[in-house]
Amino acid sequence: YDLRSEDLKDLQELGQGNGGSVKKVEHTPTGTIMAKKIVLIDAKPSVRKQILRELHIMHECKSRYIVSFYGAYLADPNICICMEFMDKTSLDGIYKKIGPIDIEIVGQVALAVLEGLTYLYDVHRIIHRDIKPSNMLCNSKGEIKICDFGVSGELINSIADTFVGTSTYMSPERIQGAQYTVKSDVWSLGISLIELALGRFPFADSESDDSDLSDFEGTLSPARPGSMGSIAALSLPPRQKRPKSATAKKDKRKSKGVSLQGGGMTMSILELLQHIVNEPAPKLTPEGRFPKEAEFFVDSCLLKDPDARKTPKELLDYSWIEQAKTSTVDVQAWANSFD
Ligand code: ATP
Ligand code: MG
Repeated sequence: YDLRSEDLKDLQELGQGNGGSVKKVEHTPTGTIMAKKIVLIDAKPSVRKQILRELHIMHECKSRYIVSFYGAYLADPNICICMEFMDKTSLDGIYKKIGPIDIEIVGQVALAVLEGLTYLYDVHRIIHRDIKPSNMLCNSKGEIKICDFGVSGELINSIADTFVGTSTYMSPERIQGAQYTVKSDVWSLGISLIELALGRFPFADSESDDSDLSDFEGTLSPARPGSMGSIAALSLPPRQKRPKSATAKKDKRKSKGVSLQGGGMTMSILELLQHIVNEPAPKLTPEGRFPKEAEFFVDSCLLKDPDARKTPKELLDYSWIEQAKTSTVDVQAWANSFD
């Protein structure tokens, strides 16, 4: 496809993230339906062109577990990325609509994500960096695929400088400033699987009284350009942990959903990051509700020490995933059971 802005007709708004918005569009010369992601980039023309060049390798990312790429173009001051349209959209939207997702289906999600991550890393040396339910998509053929992986170093930089992403799927080592590895993606997968199986974000009930943090997460607002760097740069190592005073608690409640102003950030987010670093990892609970193999798999994804955590490729051999490979669960029927 030679994509040009004037050939794409907007059909429907699909959603909005921290980095931009996504629309369902029709490529009128060919009649192809696509998802067009518009990313606002705060960067020089030379950097924009570099990003476009870097995005080019997405043309080579061909896997049934990866959302396919049609092309990208500059539309000042945005970059538009056109990809395969997944008509059942993302798994976060699905569970928010239908409630907790059946563990057999969650097993298929785990398998698809591991296959996708293994493909990206083994074939292209790409680390995803943003595994979460909103980047796991489903269609009415029953296919599950991942999208929004970090192919372009320049794009990652440009967005990180401009927006504060939802940091809550971030691994403990990343919060503490370590480099991304495939194992950071595995942590994010573990958190995402619990979220899908329970139908809620797993850190919510570990905090006291008011803490529906998934609710809070939805109200995170973009930081002003230049007001802060990456979340990782701001986080405190455990020994500098801020004491939880009564005032801090009060502030936390008051500042819910506002904040990230003037270079500061809410207590809630800082506390959440510290919680991820300092407290035991969440689990598939209550014990016994889910198959032992699923519990064990999720525990393995959520080992806090990245050296002990397995890679996506190694996890493909785990018993829960082996079961998923031979499962007869009908993802297509499931995907067509809601709209
Ligand atoms: P973030 O910006 O933090 O990554 P996000 O993933 O929700 O959050 P976007 O990537 O901008 O934000 O996507 C917004 C929404 O658009 C998604 O939640 C998803 O429902 C929908 N979407 C994205 N890509 C596609 C696609 N290829 N097909 C169908 N729907 C899509
Ligand atoms: Mg996304």
